[in-house]
Amino acid sequence: MEFIPAKTLVTRTKDLSWFGARYNMNIYKGCSHGCIYCDSRSNCYQIEDFGTIRAKQDALAIIRKQLRGRIGAGVISTGAMSDPYNPLEKEYELTREALKLIDRYHFGVAIATKSDLITRDIDLLSKINKHSPTIVKITITACNDKLSKIVEPGVCPSSKRFEALKKISEAGIFCGILMMPILPFIEDNEENIVGIVRKAAECGVNFIYPAIGMTIREGQREYFYQKLDEKFPGLREKYEKKFNLRYRCTSDKVRKLWPIFVAECKRYGILYNMPDIIKAYQSGFWQEEQLSLF
Ligand code: SF4
Repeated sequence: MEFIPAKTLVTRTKDLSWFGARYNMNIYKGCSHGCIYCDSRSNCYQIEDFGTIRAKQDALAIIRKQLRGRIGAGVISTGAMSDPYNPLEKEYELTREALKLIDRYHFGVAIATKSDLITRDIDLLSKINKHSPTIVKITITACNDKLSKIVEPGVCPSSKRFEALKKISEAGIFCGILMMPILPFIEDNEENIVGIVRKAAECGVNFIYPAIGMTIREGQREYFYQKLDEKFPGLREKYEKKFNLRYRCTSDKVRKLWPIFVAECKRYGILYNMPDIIKAYQSGFWQEEQLSLF
């Protein structure tokens, strides 16, 4: 694996609105999971050769230095722009070692991934959860494995991700699903949405955070359309006609699907609003005045 220079690894977020995280941490750059809709391929991020995973040089030493400095308590989020449980993590264990530091310096953690490799670190997540808020978000956009292997070809199928959630939930760690994006014309149907919620309920998840639609930017669009041509012939034309160069591409069916999604979540006691999710996993750890900021 190639290592790239870095000065800081843990950066402060603009606000606490995304799962209440005060910090972001990206140990890796690039991702090999090959999701056809990946936003991180967009030109604005300027990540060359996105499919090749690189790691930040001396990542653990930098994280250690930052966390033992006076940056203030908070939840550290990881999993934006690259997956912390990419295939190389199995060998290099950089995410695992970073979790040890997060535990040692008493920070909270919010992890987003699509890989069931995260179950390897349930022991550390449980340790962190004893002293600080801990939340695991696993992205699932397709209820069935056949479709998930088409839209997310480089990572384990949805069934393995549901299994991972079950294990994490059984370990007492707050967890749920990032149900986003729900691709228009492909995943925006009742069967898929209801199927995800019901399987989530069987796994004991605490929340599902949805987006019924997707966003498309320059760079991402070209890759996505190329994959549509390969895997869903004829759909590119529908996207072009419907969305043209639009950034927010909301499904036409959102008005029909949203109440169905909400009713299913309520039926199983699954949270779906961001403030409720943040409050549920952070209460008991942070002061009430901090929670009221959300
Ligand atoms: S896992 Fe995330 S970063 Fe990796 S390809 Fe998929 S969407 Fe992009």
